[in-house]
Amino acid sequence: MSQILIIYTGGTIGMMSDPKTKVLRPINFDQIMDNVPELDRLNCKLKVHSFEEIIDSSNMNPVIWSELARLIKENYDSVDGFVILHGSDTMAFTASALSFMLENLSKPIIFTGSQLPISAIRTDAKENLMTAIEIAKAKKHERSRVPEVCIYFDYKLFRGNRSFKYNSSKFEAFRSPNYPILAESGVHLKFSVNDIRQPLDGPFKVHKDLVSDVAVLKLYPGISQKVVETILGADVRGIVMETFGAGNTTTDKWFTDLLKNTINSGKVILDISQCKVGTVELGRYETSKELKDMGVANGYDMTYEAAITKMMFLLGQYEDPLIIKEMLETDLRGELTVS
Ligand code: ASP
Repeated sequence: MSQILIIYTGGTIGMMSDPKTKVLRPINFDQIMDNVPELDRLNCKLKVHSFEEIIDSSNMNPVIWSELARLIKENYDSVDGFVILHGSDTMAFTASALSFMLENLSKPIIFTGSQLPISAIRTDAKENLMTAIEIAKAKKHERSRVPEVCIYFDYKLFRGNRSFKYNSSKFEAFRSPNYPILAESGVHLKFSVNDIRQPLDGPFKVHKDLVSDVAVLKLYPGISQKVVETILGADVRGIVMETFGAGNTTTDKWFTDLLKNTINSGKVILDISQCKVGTVELGRYETSKELKDMGVANGYDMTYEAAITKMMFLLGQYEDPLIIKEMLETDLRGELTVS
């Protein structure tokens, strides 16, 4: 019989409305189980690990990501897959971070949660939880069908590091426009076999050291020199720059000079687009040619969530900014498509 480890971190799925204040607050895992008697009918053994402090995912951080990675490592050989219950707000960050931290993964790590608490009559939590478990235990010829870090939400399975939360009020909370969905649940559970990443040769490795020395420069027409100087001058090693369209920025000299000086000082600048669909093409327009020449890293079609967590991961792995730049531009876990 398959064995699945459910890790409960918090989120709306396990919240209840306080009768007095009406504010949503986390409840413990036993109360969640009481709401889903169907779990007993799943043909698998469920182990549960509940975090001591159950959180709203807005309080998620890299220390908890390391703890998640440690738990996965500790249980890796004894279970067939993992289901992680997590608030939807920052789920895509955690899923992206874990995808980088877990190298040569051959078992499913399925994140899920819900938009309504599991105790609510119209809840989306039960379907999300039941199907996430089904996916985590799904095998073909003794091998896991989805050996990836994924997000399952509203009948769709997404690659974790390709997805983001785009809707705070619909059950359909996630999208991954730059990569096809990995499975869809309807009458049948349909896996998109050709889009699912298969494990590479080599041992499973866990990297727990993330460095969160990262700043974000989100451009807008009219951004001032003072603001850009402050952000680029922050005491960090990596900067994620959210640019226009296919990776473009203003060509004002003060701006490009500031970028050049920042790179020369040993910091890494990664260019991702403010567009949610499409890719960065450094050098396609005059407005990005200089960026390429000065050594800005091309983020291609990476999500904001993947860009931030990949930067944290690489800063923890390497010191040399040129190596970090090269790795940022390399597809490590299916997070980008080099165009
Ligand atoms: N605020 C909640 C959280 O992210 C929202 C959710 O779970 O959907 O923890």
